[in-house]
Order: sequence, then structure tokens, then C-alpha cells
Amino acid sequence: MAELELSGVSKVYGAFNALRDVSLQIADGEFAVFVGPSGCGKSTLLRLIAGLDPVSGGRIAIGGNDMTARQAGQRPVAMVFQNYALYPHMSVFENIAFPLQMERRTKDDIKREVSRAAEIVQLSTRLQDRPAKLSGGQRQRVAIARAIVRKPGIFLMDEPLSNLDAALRMEMRAELTQLHRRLGSTMVYVTHDQLEAMTMADRIVVLNGGRVEQVGAPMELYHNP
Ligand code: ADP
Ligand code: ADP
Repeated sequence: MAELELSGVSKVYGAFNALRDVSLQIADGEFAVFVGPSGCGKSTLLRLIAGLDPVSGGRIAIGGNDMTARQAGQRPVAMVFQNYALYPHMSVFENIAFPLQMERRTKDDIKREVSRAAEIVQLSTRLQDRPAKLSGGQRQRVAIARAIVRKPGIFLMDEPLSNLDAALRMEMRAELTQLHRRLGSTMVYVTHDQLEAMTMADRIVVLNGGRVEQVGAPMELYHNP
């Protein structure tokens, strides 16, 4: 059974077809990367999977369960955004704890989960700092830790590294690959960076004009461009 199954998914904005008949299966634990030119529908597709935007047609299933009618909070996914979307007035601890506070988890539970996530992203010593005191890479790690505490079946990442400089991007690529190995979760990752796609993906999904143009392992696509 596929962890994520999209069947004939479409999205229209007014008269504009942003996605047309997208069907795709992503296996449990797979690192899938959506690539394609600007405006091809990558972010839109991720938002539909997240439940942040409703589909215009088709069906989205996760772990065999139909998610199409469910709101974002009712889906086993966690999203990491390009701009980190941290709360500036909260500490790193409070930012990471936020989804658990929303779930009204106990204090002990929250402390334990935040410590574990902070350790994974190497921020254990920065928990009392505000985001403004952190580097761009550290801020993105906070956003990743905030996703980790939710223990999602699927991590959704929308260009999480594109605001970082080249050296930091390279470092974070390696960290994300390690994170994926350690957690074993399914990743759906959007980028316009070929190198990110080639180095991190188990499978690359090429979108063009709102359609799936090609799907394959990095080496397959590299040899049959
Ligand atoms: P990508 O992430 O591949 O750059 P997007 O998914 O952001 O592409 O956008 C796909 C197309 O849909 C673009 O032409 C964009 O302008 C359009 N689009 C996205 N969101 C909206 C919206 N809320 N209203 C109207 N058009 C939109
Ligand atoms: P990205 O390039 O990272 O996909 P965009 O800047 O295209 O992000 O989109 C940011 C937000 O604006 C999204 O919520 C998207 O749905 C919305 N948006 C994008 N294109 C349009 C559009 N043509 N009309 C209205 N909203 C849009």
C-alpha cells in the first residue's frame, strides 16, 4: 500500500488550471522530490496534500485513508515552509512546543518531545533564545523540529533551503538526508534546485504546466532527460 496516493487530482483558480489529472503513488519511507519550472504547480500540489487548500477534483489518500475532505489539522502531515514561519516573540522551546500545546499535551510530555526534537536538529543549547538570535540555518532547524514533534507520517517541505547561502544549503542537504534516514518518515520535498533533487531524492517527480511529466529515480532521469 502506498503511503501517499494521489488519484486524478486537479486544481483550478478561476479559469486557470494549476494542476490537471495528477496521479501518483509515494511509498512509505520514500524521499520524493517535486521539481519543475516556476509556476508548474509544485507548491500548489504540496498545499493540497497538506490540506491547506481544497482539491478541485480527484482524491488524496494517506496510509490507505481518504484525506480529501479532511482539514490540515486532521491529516498526519507536517509542513516546513521556505520562510520558516516562526513566532518571533516566542523562544525556540516555545516555537517547537507550539503544536503540542495545541494538542493540550502534558508539560512532561512536551518537555520530552521538544528535547528529543532539539537534539535531532542540534539545537539543545539554544532552547531559550528567540529566533532573531539564530542564523538562517538554525531557524530552519527550529521549523524542522516543530514538524518532528508532531511525528507525522509525511513531512512536506516547500523549498526549505532556498533562503540559505550556498555553503549552508550544502550542509543542510546532508542534514536532511540524515534526518530522513534516522526517522524513516516519508518526505515530499519541493525545490527548483536540480542538485537538491539529485542528491536527496529516492524518486523525482517532474511537473510541467500542472501535469506530471516524468517520474523516476535520479539516475534514470539523468540518463533519459
Ligand atoms: P510553483 O510552486 O511550481 O512555482 P505554484 O504551485 O505556486 O507553482 O503555482 C502554480 C500556478 O498557479 C501559478 O501560475 C500560480 O500563479 C497559480 N496560483 C497559485 N496559487 C494561486 C491562487 N491562490 N490564485 C490564483 N492562482 C494561483
Ligand atoms: P512559491 O513561488 O513559493 O510557490 P508564490 O509566491 O507563488 O509562492 O505564492 C505565494 C502565495 O500566493 C500562495 O499562497 C499562492 O497560493 C498565492 N498565489 C500565487 N500565485 C497567485 C496568483 N496568481 N493569484 C493569487 N494568489 C496567488
